Amino acid sequence: MLMSPLEFFRSLPKKVCPECGEGVEEQAESYLMECDRCLSKKEE
Ligand SMILES: [Zn+2]
Repeated sequence: MLMSPLEFFRSLPKKVCPECGEGVEEQAESYLMECDRCLSKKEE
């Protein structure tokens, strides 16, 4: 059985962007999963 991409990334100890798979820097004030690149893409 295949895990969904979201489940897969959630199981990783390091925070990883579910959009592109890049590692995401932990930011204390940020609850967002995506990396800066994907976030800026969404806001446009
Ligand atoms: Zn990303």
